[in-house]
Order: sequence, then structure tokens, then C-alpha cells
Amino acid sequence: HILIIGSANADHVMKFEYLPAAGQTLMSHEYRLEQGGKGANQAVACARLAKSGSFIDFICHLGQDSVGNDMRQSWIKDGISTEGISQVAGLSTGTAMIFIGDNGQNTIGVAAGANASLSPHDLDNHIELFARAQYLLIQLETPTATAVKALQMAKKQGVITVLNPAPATALGNSCLKWVDIITPNETEAEALSGIEINGTEDAQMAAQLLHQQGVGIVVITLGSRGAYVSSTDFTGLVPAINVQAIDTVAAGDTFNGALVVGLSEGMSIAAAVGFANAASAITVTRQGAQRAIPYRHEILY
Ligand code: ADP
Repeated sequence: HILIIGSANADHVMKFEYLPAAGQTLMSHEYRLEQGGKGANQAVACARLAKSGSFIDFICHLGQDSVGNDMRQSWIKDGISTEGISQVAGLSTGTAMIFIGDNGQNTIGVAAGANASLSPHDLDNHIELFARAQYLLIQLETPTATAVKALQMAKKQGVITVLNPAPATALGNSCLKWVDIITPNETEAEALSGIEINGTEDAQMAAQLLHQQGVGIVVITLGSRGAYVSSTDFTGLVPAINVQAIDTVAAGDTFNGALVVGLSEGMSIAAAVGFANAASAITVTRQGAQRAIPYRHEILY
């Protein structure tokens, strides 16, 4: 069993020749509604990448709205168990409005909606999901106090805890002491350690600081270069797969889901990171968030 806790967002993506200025109304030349949110993306990655018969639980808050209903339905198709999914009356499903200019610039507004209502107290309704979990995978797009409590509950029950510390934020020992495995990207590693990550030497220095806070395994993702691992079993770079990237949305989320699936199947850390590189390399060759995430049979690893 893998337990994922986190956010779900409906991403409204509009593309323009140039970004509209304040006070301006502009027609977009492309519009898409994407199912996204870091928690949901990672849950979908786990469900699509796990071997059939695996159990994927996802604790999240959606609104009682059509977007929330649609997400729930598509997650059921992917094989995610519905026990942890709540639709909260009076709140809307998390929403992001993403404006992209043809020059690549963007402006993004986010309404956390129901995501913000996932409180530490809500976790007490899901004790049985913690009890059956082997791994917990969590991010920071839902309230940090909830993440800290989830990590603590899991760790106390012997569940292996994996924190994807995204979006970037500084975290103290009161959170990190419950984390077995942490998976920042370069920006997030810098926010955690104060060290700017330009290469593997910087990555090792940042990892060292995180080890000192009690984190056993540090995996820093380095985009097209792959991921740097620091652990007692293996330390070094696991190179990415060389592909033509067209859209890197959900790359990190696919990586995290795949990493945990690999570890839960008994792969070594180096092998699980190789599997995660392979899965996320496929994601970056496709448009979109959840719809870009590959299925297990697509991965030759
Ligand atoms: P995030 O998406 O969270 O910023 P990264 O950019 O570090 O995280 O990407 C996560 C993982 O996705 C990388 O470790 C790598 O395995 C894969 N990846 C990202 N970009 C590419 C790329 N251009 N080519 C191949 N793999 C990629």
C-alpha cells in the first residue's frame, strides 16, 4: 500500500500572443482544462506505474462541483482507492488560472479552494489508511501543519515517509525529523539548505545539511541531468534519459510517484531513481499534467 496526501487542482490554461496587461481584455488562441495539483499528479503516477493489484490511497479535499466529480471519476479509472477522497460542501475544487504568452512568459493565479481545508484534524478520520500503508508520499501544496502531522503519524507507525518539499520553502527540524526520504528539485534544495545548486558538489553539500537534520535519503532532481542521490547504499548522479522535452509539467510528480513505486517493490535506491528518471522522461515528451503521466507497460526499465 502507498498512501499519498495532497492537493488537486483544475488548471485553466490560456495561451496568448502576449500576456494581457492590467485593464486589458485579450482573446486567447488556445484553451485547455487540465487535471493537476501535485498531490493528485503523484497519486495518478503511483496508480499508473504500480503493478496491478497494488493499493493506492489518496487523501485529498475536492469541492462538490463538476470539476471535482470529474477528477474523482478519472482517478477511479486509474485504480486509486476512493476512501481518502472527500468532497467538501461549500468549497470549490482547487483552481489555477495559467496565462501563457507565446514568448514563454506566464502569470498564474491559484485559488487553493478545498485544498486549504485539509486540516491536521481531518487525518484522524483516516487512521486505517495510515495503518495499512507501507509508504507515505506527501508534498506542501496543502497546509504545512497537516503535512507535519501526517509525517509524524506515519513515522510513529513504521510507515516509510517521503516528502517532496514543493513548492519551495524553508523547513525546520520539527518537520524534517519525521522524514525518511526527501526529494527536492534544485530550487527547493536551495530553499531548504541555503546552497545554490549548480552541480553535484553543491547537491552533496545540501544533502549533508539535510542528513544532519535526520533525513536518511536525499534525492535532488536536476531536470534534464537526472537526479543526485545521497544515501548509505549509494551516492552519486543517476543520469536522466535523453529525450526531446516539449512540456515539463508533472515531471517532478511523475518522478516522485515512480520512485515510491520502485522502492515499494524492493528496488534499491539507485534502481528506483533510474526507474523514476525513465518514467518522468516520458512525461516531458507529452503535453499536459495528469494526462502526460505514463503507464507501467510503457516503461522499459
Ligand atoms: P520539477 O519538475 O519538480 O522541477 P525536475 O525539473 O528536476 O523537477 O525534473 C524531475 C525529473 O524529471 C528529473 O530528475 C528527470 O528525471 C526528469 N526530467 C525533467 N526534465 C527532463 C528532460 N528535459 N529530459 C529528461 N528527463 C527530464
